Amino acid sequence: MMAEVPDYRPETLAVRAGQQRSQFGEHSEALYLTSSFVFPSAAAAAKRFSGEEEGNVYARFTNPTVTMFEERLAALEGAEDCVATASGMAAIMAAVLAHLKQGDHIVASNSLFGATVQLFNNILSRTGITTTFVSHTDPAAWAAAIRPETKLFFLETPSNPLTEIADIRQLADIAHAKGILVAVDNCFCTPILQRPLDMGADLVIHSATKFLDGQGRVLGGAVCGPKKLTEEVFKYLRTAGPTLSAFNAWVLLKGLETLKLRVEAQSANAAQLATWLEAHPKVARVFYPGLPSHPQHELAKTQQKSGGAIVAFEVKGAREQAWQVVDNCRLLSITANLGDTKTTITHPASTTHGRISPEARAAAGISEGLLRIAVGLEAVEDLKADLERGLSLI
Ligand SMILES: *Cc1c(COP(=O)(O)O)cnc(C)c1O
Repeated sequence: MMAEVPDYRPETLAVRAGQQRSQFGEHSEALYLTSSFVFPSAAAAAKRFSGEEEGNVYARFTNPTVTMFEERLAALEGAEDCVATASGMAAIMAAVLAHLKQGDHIVASNSLFGATVQLFNNILSRTGITTTFVSHTDPAAWAAAIRPETKLFFLETPSNPLTEIADIRQLADIAHAKGILVAVDNCFCTPILQRPLDMGADLVIHSATKFLDGQGRVLGGAVCGPKKLTEEVFKYLRTAGPTLSAFNAWVLLKGLETLKLRVEAQSANAAQLATWLEAHPKVARVFYPGLPSHPQHELAKTQQKSGGAIVAFEVKGAREQAWQVVDNCRLLSITANLGDTKTTITHPASTTHGRISPEARAAAGISEGLLRIAVGLEAVEDLKADLERGLSLI
């Protein structure tokens, strides 16, 4: 229904898009906890099963609460369609297996979310789908990695934790010249700050677990794009099974309603914190796309509305000094999760990137002094005071 009025602004779409009211006229979106649906007659059942008649059959296929979440997220991403999944990883798996087969090849960024790298290297490789990892800031490397069997470019921007920017438009041009699909994991920016489909991407992937929920409650994921591509993802999901639960969809619908307010406020907090850290005598370097010192600040400005809520910085020192900052936090949560209203801090070299060899870590720029903060909604002065306690000891 919202598709007929596509000029609503994001604030409006976030609270209104996709809502379907039942016969009871409820104002808030209903939670339909039902695994299957009944049909008025044998003939109607046959028509639903054959697809001749639209409607719900079984919750592994569709559920009205999940559909409402899908339509709302699609509206925010400017996508024709969206298919929700049980988690972000399920979304990546579904997007790849829906469009690739044995013998196909992926070119991917070498600074993807850790589990995505494992999925490509250890699980998809077993199906005969191979991946070449290249620097996501070097479009020439992507072009050079293309083979006749390359079917997909897969990237995240900004990257985790160093916030390096991939040029979505340029990579899409390189891919499309060879008939290759481009999938962008838009978890860090969300559609509020960046809409990859507008810049030429074919598919947008989400871990809804992060900013879309935003309050650390549920797992979820989604694949957005044109119907001709999402239809294949839907066919995979209804058969393979990693669909989003109705309860999680209902939580995520409510998360989307405040997405813009949260992401903008968290990003504004992050910008202030990054500026403060950059001027701090105990900080060697700050990585934040919103800072003019970021090597790709100009590119970031062309594809993101602001710098986002993730800030990384190197303390003057190594692991001991970085851990000192972490261990002196009383407010910041020591956890690798991100996108939450509560600010989190993590030491990538010993956690998210701990299983990579020290050499590979160094090559990727993940130093022992590096810390990553996913900024939440607390007062920025309180966040500064919490970090200052540990920084002052260095
Ligand atoms: C967390 C995350 C994922 C995986 O999402 P889950 O919901 O945990 O499965 C994928 N990509 C990025 C960038 C993430 O941060």
